[in-house]
Amino acid sequence: SDTGTAARRILLKLSGEALMGGADHGIDPAVLGRVADEVAELAAAGVQVGLVIGGGNIFRGAALAAAGMDRVTGDHMGMLATVINALAMRDALSARGLEAGVMSAVPMSPFSEGFDRLRAIRRLERGGVVIFAAGTGNPFFTTDSAACLRGIEIRADLVLKATKVDGVYTADPVKDPSARRYTRLTYDEVLARELGVMDLTAILLCRDHGMPIRVFNMNKPGALQRAVAGEDEGTLVEQ
Ligand code: UDP
Repeated sequence: SDTGTAARRILLKLSGEALMGGADHGIDPAVLGRVADEVAELAAAGVQVGLVIGGGNIFRGAALAAAGMDRVTGDHMGMLATVINALAMRDALSARGLEAGVMSAVPMSPFSEGFDRLRAIRRLERGGVVIFAAGTGNPFFTTDSAACLRGIEIRADLVLKATKVDGVYTADPVKDPSARRYTRLTYDEVLARELGVMDLTAILLCRDHGMPIRVFNMNKPGALQRAVAGEDEGTLVEQ
């Protein structure tokens, strides 16, 4: 169905947990490889891919703060965790022959380049992949917000949020068999119904700049391709 148009340039947001596989922390090389294969497939099809990866598989600032640590320090550790994930993803993408680069929001030489918007766009235009690391570079933000920010900055057609479920539901589909998937939602519906698509900062940023978000199931074969093609996959959030 025609819930969207095919995207030429995307910003794909993966949670850190998406890289854990069956483990309770860290990176599963097999899962990393599978994600890299999917990104390589998109790139081969001419789709320009920017990536933001979370850090929740290693550290989350809020969790560290709850355990007694200073929140800002915890957030710094969380941002460093996203750099670790980004380096792993760069390695997997490079191994697949892609020109992959990490651009960090905080200076990280010699591990990573710094964020440079025009360089990022140029790399995407010549078929390379850019992984935006260290979130926004600021505490109290999330990588969902970073994904929306970078997506808007690089003029992506779409922010794709990879999850473990097939989109946004009226209720938790695991607990409630009558739960229905939303095909399409407006930003205001997401806000009014308090649907946990992304944090409020991320939703408001996308609303202010007309950036569509599609939530889809990364574990479902073909879902990423279908989401990029603008088919009825997951849930599209737009005006
Ligand atoms: N973080 C931050 N500022 C940002 C992005 C992330 O301080 O702009 C920190 C924050 O502590 C967060 C952690 O990095 O908990 C990991 O990011 P996130 O929780 O978004 O990862 P995900 O849940 O997507 O794995």
